[in-house]
Amino acid sequence: MRLLRRRGIEVRVAVALALIVCLAACGGGKGSDSPTAPSGPPPVAPPQAVPPANLAVDVSPKLTGAELTLRWTSSVIGAGATFSVELGSTQGGTDIGVLDAGSALSYVARDVRAGTVYARVRARLADVTSQPSNEVTASAFSLRQFIEALYFGTGFLGPADGNRGGCAVNGRLRGFSRGQGVAVLLGSTIPQERIPAIRSLLDSAAIATRGATSVTIVPTNDVDPQPRTGQVSTSLVDVLPCNTTATGCAILTPNSGATTSSRAFQLSRASNLTYAHELGHAVLGLCHVEATRIGGGDKSLMSSSGLPLDKVTLSPFDISAIQAVYDAGLGPGATRDDLARAGLID
Ligand SMILES: [Zn+2]
Repeated sequence: MRLLRRRGIEVRVAVALALIVCLAACGGGKGSDSPTAPSGPPPVAPPQAVPPANLAVDVSPKLTGAELTLRWTSSVIGAGATFSVELGSTQGGTDIGVLDAGSALSYVARDVRAGTVYARVRARLADVTSQPSNEVTASAFSLRQFIEALYFGTGFLGPADGNRGGCAVNGRLRGFSRGQGVAVLLGSTIPQERIPAIRSLLDSAAIATRGATSVTIVPTNDVDPQPRTGQVSTSLVDVLPCNTTATGCAILTPNSGATTSSRAFQLSRASNLTYAHELGHAVLGLCHVEATRIGGGDKSLMSSSGLPLDKVTLSPFDISAIQAVYDAGLGPGATRDDLARAGLID
């Protein structure tokens, strides 16, 4: 009996050991052949490549092409995500390029060809590529194209309606010569509230020409003062002598090359914008730039259309273009060939 009991104990110990082994090997004490049991560690969720968001683009025209700076946000940044930028000439297109931004949240695309550019960005995480971000558009152009339009009214950014404004004739830049002091004669009926707009335009012109054009404002008692050499008149008139559809216009003398004197005219209903814009013609000899190809009328004081009525200074694009000309030692009187030799137009 003693032996039998010992055997009985030995049997129970053996069963207990087998159960412990099974508990360790079978996970939670259930048989591995259970139809409801998980077969291994809990499943890992596949990586979520969430699309980037808030894509925005800035255009900076350089001499040889547009520079586009794209920025976006991402909820998977830091998890090993990388990003690719898609640029196309149509919605959803990639014909301009698919560009690897690495793990950065921005990308600078250089020498982008002129025209409308559609851009998106995608995230890539563990070989899973996200849907695209929001799509943005940009009007791409080169600084050379902007300079050609602003000074000659021709090329890709030349005004589509053919109205160039008072600017280069016979292939020579207009405007007052470098270093020439210029006086703006105010007609006696010019409203006082327009003078800050005139002053703002002249201040931005001084910056654009690197100080090569210094202009003073001279009030007069004459309704329509007649300018002499080195003078610009700005007068309020009932009928414009040089344009029948606008609210202002400008006449530059002589009709070719550097200006010796000029006249700006405004109707009584003219806005601050008109005063500044006409002096852009009369003082600097600038042409119109096609608004629809530079991203909107607010992108140049000399836009062909769509200008905000309170705009009274040269735009950053205007200033970049004019500074490039003056930095090259050129200015009014220079020829188209002069600008081409300096690499300022194509
Ligand atoms: Zn104009």
